[in-house]
Amino acid sequence: MPQLTIDPVPCLRDNYAWIAYDREDGICAIIDPSEAEPVREALRQNGLTPTHILNTHHHPDHVGGNLELKQAFGLTIVGPAKDAARIPGMDVGVNEGDVYTLGHHKARVFEIPAHTSGHIAFWFADDEALFPGDTLFAMGCGRLFEGDPPMMWNSLSKLAKLPDATRVYCAHEYTESNGRFALSIEPNNKRLQTRMEEVLATRAKGLPTLPSNIGDEKLTNPFLRATSREIRQTLGLENAPDVEVFAEARRRKDVFKG
Ligand code: ZN
Ligand code: FE
Repeated sequence: MPQLTIDPVPCLRDNYAWIAYDREDGICAIIDPSEAEPVREALRQNGLTPTHILNTHHHPDHVGGNLELKQAFGLTIVGPAKDAARIPGMDVGVNEGDVYTLGHHKARVFEIPAHTSGHIAFWFADDEALFPGDTLFAMGCGRLFEGDPPMMWNSLSKLAKLPDATRVYCAHEYTESNGRFALSIEPNNKRLQTRMEEVLATRAKGLPTLPSNIGDEKLTNPFLRATSREIRQTLGLENAPDVEVFAEARRRKDVFKG
């Protein structure tokens, strides 16, 4: 069975909405439409009619296009059941472990709170695709607006368990600044060094650095690397529990000027 085709739609300043579709199945899902117009233009160019919106969390740069797209296309909006009141136009609420089916494609839901309390991810196992919203970024993670470090560490740990080949479709182009921070606390990580060179070359051409993949994130993302000796030494936390290493890295990123 062919996998979903997944295209980025740059929105606002540094957001990506993603369009995931299978023409044979007649399904086309928009993940986190920040705004309607760039999404509609991408749909027009590809001759696609959207059937669903999948929302990871309630922030305006993820749901801003919901109502206009719903009105234009009569599509079904799927989002976190626990955050129903904050997701405009939501039709279907999903919870941890639910499997939502689009044509032949199955999306498993993870509850991954901390960036927001209701944040979820959609994992298409057979399509090897993960939509983590603003929880996991390429070489980074989201800010803790509605949760604490243990909550975020637990959320990230769920995603880190997915197969290495899983492609990661993050919702922002933050990769370059994330990479600069990562290098500041783990400067001798060889894969991180080469990845940063690749990222700079990609950005110089004006192209998206996404999707990433879980295998590469485990090798380069400081927020998944609490066991790294070098990171522990940099942070002065050689013998601390993983969650404390994570918490200190997140605190430093909040004030990092790179
Ligand atoms: Zn957000
Ligand atoms: Fe966002």
